[in-house]
Amino acid sequence: MPERSATLTLSTDGAASTHATTTVTVFSPRQRTRRAIVALLIGAAAAAALIPIPIIHLVGIPLALLTAIVIAVKQLRVAARLGRVGVACPKCAAPQAIGGGFGFPSIDGPIPMTCDSCRRLLTLTVEPGPTAPHEQ
Ligand SMILES: [Zn+2]
Repeated sequence: MPERSATLTLSTDGAASTHATTTVTVFSPRQRTRRAIVALLIGAAAAAALIPIPIIHLVGIPLALLTAIVIAVKQLRVAARLGRVGVACPKCAAPQAIGGGFGFPSIDGPIPMTCDSCRRLLTLTVEPGPTAPHEQ
C-alpha cells in the first residue's frame, strides 16, 4: 500500500482555512477486492460459528452474512484512507477528527463535511504530497 504524506485544508465561507498534515493510503483495485473478500470470509466464519447456538442462529447467521456483504461493498468503494488527525474548525476552532475508519470513495475533489461543534458546512481538501521517505 503506497502511503504518502498529505496536506489537509479545512475551509468555510468567511474564515481563514486551517491546515494539517497526515498520511494518505491509496488502495489499488486489487487491494480493494482483497479487503472485500477478507470481510466476506470473516462474515462467513462468524455465521458458521453461530450454527450450533440455538435460537441465536435464526437471527445471527443472516445478520452476520448481511453485515459482511455491507462491509465488503464499502471496502470495494474505498479508494483512499487518511491517517487520523485533528484539524481545527476554521470558525469555532474545535478540533475535527478526520481520517481513520473505512476511508473515502475519492480524495480528488473537495469533501463536504460538518463541524462537530458549530454544525457549519466545511470543505475538506486533500493534497497528496511526495511519497513518504521510508517507501522509497
Ligand atoms: Zn466549528
